Amino acid sequence: MLVRHPRGSLAATQNEFSIYPRNINRLMMSNMTIGAISTSPSTRMTNRATVGRVFTLIREGTATTRGEIGRRTGLSRTAVASRVTALIDARLVVEVEGSASSVGRPPTRLTFNSGAGIVLSAAIGRSRTQVAVCDLAGEVIVEQDVVQEVGLGPEEVMPEVVRALLALLAQSGRSTKRVKGIGISIPGTVDAERRCSRDSPIMRGWDAVPLAPYVSALATAPVYLENDTNVMALSERRGHLATYQDALIVKASTGFGAGIVAGGVMQRGALGAAGDLGHIKTVAARGLSCRCGDSGCLEAVAGGWALVRDMRARGRDVTHIRHVVDLALDGDPGARHDIRESGRRLGEVLATVVNLLNPAAIIVGGDMAPAYDTFVAGLRETLYGNASAIATRDLQILSTTHADKSGVIGCAVLVLDQVLSEAAVDAAWS
Ligand SMILES: [Zn+2]
Repeated sequence: MLVRHPRGSLAATQNEFSIYPRNINRLMMSNMTIGAISTSPSTRMTNRATVGRVFTLIREGTATTRGEIGRRTGLSRTAVASRVTALIDARLVVEVEGSASSVGRPPTRLTFNSGAGIVLSAAIGRSRTQVAVCDLAGEVIVEQDVVQEVGLGPEEVMPEVVRALLALLAQSGRSTKRVKGIGISIPGTVDAERRCSRDSPIMRGWDAVPLAPYVSALATAPVYLENDTNVMALSERRGHLATYQDALIVKASTGFGAGIVAGGVMQRGALGAAGDLGHIKTVAARGLSCRCGDSGCLEAVAGGWALVRDMRARGRDVTHIRHVVDLALDGDPGARHDIRESGRRLGEVLATVVNLLNPAAIIVGGDMAPAYDTFVAGLRETLYGNASAIATRDLQILSTTHADKSGVIGCAVLVLDQVLSEAAVDAAWS
């Protein structure tokens, strides 16, 4: 499944970053609370059920005793025992005494050991990077924000990320030997194979620079890279995507981006550039220069950086969209107006997207999300006014499940999809 990249990064041979990780038999998803998405095995498995398959059954809670595993898989008691022993020896599974019963001795229960290792997450933004140490269930153990100057390149940002992760590791009391993988997200288009930014005008200095070598000093673990909005979508597997298989995940921050999930599958596009919402041309931005070098983009009239630009032009001392949001939350009329207006402009563009894709839900996150009510009030006005009646009839507009932790949790899910996949577990025992 994995091939070692010449420069030391681990690269996947396939596009593995679907919202469902390939054939990880969707059973695993229900453990990630994708309950509504058809994950229960309805058919009895064959005798070829591998150790990876048995692990998945335990991890997703479908079979939690040796007897249940035997019934689900058709494996003999001996075969079940050998697979379970392998998983216990690897600390991926632990035994828990069953609760007392009046009918004899209760069977020993088997549970996934989310403490068997850790995952490092780094959600890199233009002005702030969030780093975290997570367990194997994707739960954040410790986290930290690293504020950085806008526009810095990887040679300045990545060493800071490494330092922050090392500090978090020390704080968590975990050894680097327990790191199972490192997940990184960046804005813009990503070259998933080379683990670098690809032709992204807003990430000047990052294009074609592999990021894995920067973090290789942290641990000898695989490194995965994904776009920031797609990572946010991955985090929703443990949230709204349990209910909605067709969804747009919109990140409204310094710029705009969208993660597109259709039929439960992430749509990344031919070159991984799908969802570039902020640079769709809109009449409202006509003549306005964009940070991408073009003009007339949605971001140029409604992105966080444009709101900061406009407030500063009015003499307000703000330097980041988070400051504008804070002012809005304090009741500042100008900031509230600008954020609502941003929602309106986004809604005009999203109306086209909604007509085209007919999502069941739009999930809004990013730095503007704390002002959700104000922002979404504007968004609803123009979205419902411009999209077709049927496309909006049952459309839900929601805030992200994990709020400002979406990025680091999504980076962890990105890693866990791979390192705990059935194929990966099998490979470790083949
Ligand atoms: Zn642009």
